Amino acid sequence: MKTSDAIIVGAGPAGLFSAIELAEAGIEVTLIEKGPDLKRRKCPALDYRKICLRCPVCPLISGFGGAGAFSDGKITLSHEIGGNLRRYIEPDSFIRLMNHVDQRLLEFGAPRKLYGTDDEAIKRIKYEAQKNGLLFVPTPIRHLGTDGGFKVLEKMRNYVEKLGIDIHFNERVEDIVAEGGEVKGVRTNRDEYRAKFVIVAPGRAGATWMAGQARKLKLETYPNPVDIGVRVELPASIMDHLTKVVYEPKLVYYSQKFDDKIRTFCVNPNGVVVQEFAEDVITVNGFSNTFPTSENTNFALLVSTSFTEPFKDPISFGKSIVRLANLISGGVLLQRLGDLIRGRRSTDKRISKNPVKPTLESAIPGDISFVLPYRYLVNLIEMLETLDKIAPGVASPYTLLYGVEVKFYSNRIKVNKSLETDIKGLFTIGDGAGITRGLLHSAISGLVAASEIKRRMGIRNEN
Ligand SMILES: Cc1cc2nc3c(=O)[nH]c(=O)nc-3n(C[C@H](O)[C@H](O)[C@H](O)COP(=O)(O)OP(=O)(O)OC[C@H]3O[C@@H](n4cnc5c(N)ncnc54)[C@H](O)[C@@H]3O)c2cc1C
Repeated sequence: MKTSDAIIVGAGPAGLFSAIELAEAGIEVTLIEKGPDLKRRKCPALDYRKICLRCPVCPLISGFGGAGAFSDGKITLSHEIGGNLRRYIEPDSFIRLMNHVDQRLLEFGAPRKLYGTDDEAIKRIKYEAQKNGLLFVPTPIRHLGTDGGFKVLEKMRNYVEKLGIDIHFNERVEDIVAEGGEVKGVRTNRDEYRAKFVIVAPGRAGATWMAGQARKLKLETYPNPVDIGVRVELPASIMDHLTKVVYEPKLVYYSQKFDDKIRTFCVNPNGVVVQEFAEDVITVNGFSNTFPTSENTNFALLVSTSFTEPFKDPISFGKSIVRLANLISGGVLLQRLGDLIRGRRSTDKRISKNPVKPTLESAIPGDISFVLPYRYLVNLIEMLETLDKIAPGVASPYTLLYGVEVKFYSNRIKVNKSLETDIKGLFTIGDGAGITRGLLHSAISGLVAASEIKRRMGIRNEN
């Protein structure tokens, strides 16, 4: 049995930012990560064109850096986008912590360039969007790129070493141990660890495990919405007038037919589409480097659904839809928008003649209408046709749709303003606790928990 001041579960942005904050204050930290160290994070289907091998621990989302390591590295500098933190933190504190995280990223080598600061160009996009019933949400974005993000993480890795944080890789936390309403430590597949404070930051790779622990510890949870849709791929030139200004045009639309919220998400100019193994299903995602990786731009179009009583399991609902796509294609389905509208499947032959070439070569041509419910199809087609008005060509018959993209947000665990649960000393943060959905917000959640631990240990907070 090992003892330290604080245990952190998960070395994603949430876990790393809290570990660094605590260690810099002289607090003894044990960091436990079920995935490998940064250098050893290699996907066997490395060029993303081969079929996902369903590894027991996915190296793309687990290991030093968490899901952030192969993310697109877009730091969206906004209070509104990236999670639920505004429920817990006042806007002023958020901005202070946001600037702190951004400054740290710059110190670790993030690029200085900020997108989304040209007010005149933003005004023009806003006008075009509003005219067509779209809500445009401009936000400053620092784009690290998948390549640049990895370099930032290499510097963080060296710093974590220098701070003397005790990191355990390839070790899985199986149980959080609590007695008499107080946390005592954790039990892993190898050992037992004791500490007065435990910060749990398991990300999406640990969402199901976290839900099980919440049930076991009788922590109250609230369901989050589930976002279901497709990844769209088209020639980069069609979106250039938007992506050159804001990098990621965040556009929201409420459909005429269902009044559902549909939004663009994770826009990757000149990027590539990738597959992702999320616990037990293969979904689709995208990334872009700091240099052009293809002639295409890809982005997710997601329909947000918040289920009402008595249904409380949006994650299983989303997974059932992805499983259908996996069942009929073995992984990710691919269809041209023109084929979907004409009510026919895409075939290898049709895709080979398509002027837009798919960047995810392992996707199987087929028919997304066998997978997505009517409501989602109608919403997505309506949104594509509306987007076409501000970016002509988006709804071209040659536009590629990959299915299914799903964003599962873990059920939100009941925490107080310091992100501490009803169990004293137990903090749940980041994406796995249903509190955040992005790099910046997850990192900030780490700082919030660490600040409270510092305060309780009598250490003055600089942030
Ligand atoms: C392809 C892709 C692109 C993305 N692009 C962006 C982007 O451009 N901008 C943006 O803001 N966000 C992006 N994201 C989302 C972003 O990566 C996440 O929001 C962020 O990483 C969440 O941080 P986290 O620390 O909460 O969790 P994670 O980064 O998921 O880290 C959690 C860690 O905990 C470990 N873990 C889980 N359970 C256990 C356990 N029981 N024991 C030990 N360890 C455990 C996991 O292995 C993992 O390493 C992207 C995600 C993906 C997958």
